[in-house]
Amino acid sequence: MSRPMCYRCFWPQPLCWCGSITPMPSRTKFVFLLHPEEFKRAKAATGRLTHLCLADSELYSGTAFDDHPAVQALINDPANFPVLLYPTRDARDLSKGEFTPADTGGRRLVVFLLDATWHLVRHIWRDSPSLRRLPRIMFSAAAPSRYVIKHQPEAACLSTLEATHELLLALDRSGLDHYAMPDQLLGLFQRMQDVQLAFAAESARLGRQRHAPRKKSPRCTPPPPKPGAKRRRIFGPPTTTPPPAHPPT
Ligand SMILES: [Zn+2]
Repeated sequence: MSRPMCYRCFWPQPLCWCGSITPMPSRTKFVFLLHPEEFKRAKAATGRLTHLCLADSELYSGTAFDDHPAVQALINDPANFPVLLYPTRDARDLSKGEFTPADTGGRRLVVFLLDATWHLVRHIWRDSPSLRRLPRIMFSAAAPSRYVIKHQPEAACLSTLEATHELLLALDRSGLDHYAMPDQLLGLFQRMQDVQLAFAAESARLGRQRHAPRKKSPRCTPPPPKPGAKRRRIFGPPTTTPPPAHPPT
């Protein structure tokens, strides 16, 4: 029998995070665009939890956003200054002062974040030309990834919770926003990892008990975690070769 789920944070109800999350105000609007594959990986993905932590944020799933009414309304609203967080060489680096409040012309900054791996983000890039046309921003991460569960392939490849934390730090330092609750995103990330590590340890312990009489069984030892090289998220260091099927316009 499947466990009851919280359909807000998409964790099992006994582990629901919603009660420990305080939506944080911000001047910036954050829009998380999840690839459908990422959307299905609800528990492991941190984009949904990041969205819950930010009062002025939205989250949508799909690959083709050119006909998405809410996304297009945000892009085309003259009161907004929409940008894409996308670490290519031509992105303006907040950490180097390449994007400042003067650049927005007094408009509200709207940051679109593609919550997907480099492999999956190709689909969004191919199917959403309006996102490809947006100005791009990036940041230089102050800290390597704290991920221990997924064994990030590079220290600079960040989870969505970490990337949004680093983005908010950079926005704060640039004078574009005020990062009101800098401990929440990383605190949630750490607690989430603690729970997953505890589960992994318990699974390994139960596995050893179950197989204890069959000492010759090759399955007595849990297999090592699979490396995450094929799941490199896009919140990494800048790349000179954009992954999309179509070159950026
Ligand atoms: Zn919940």
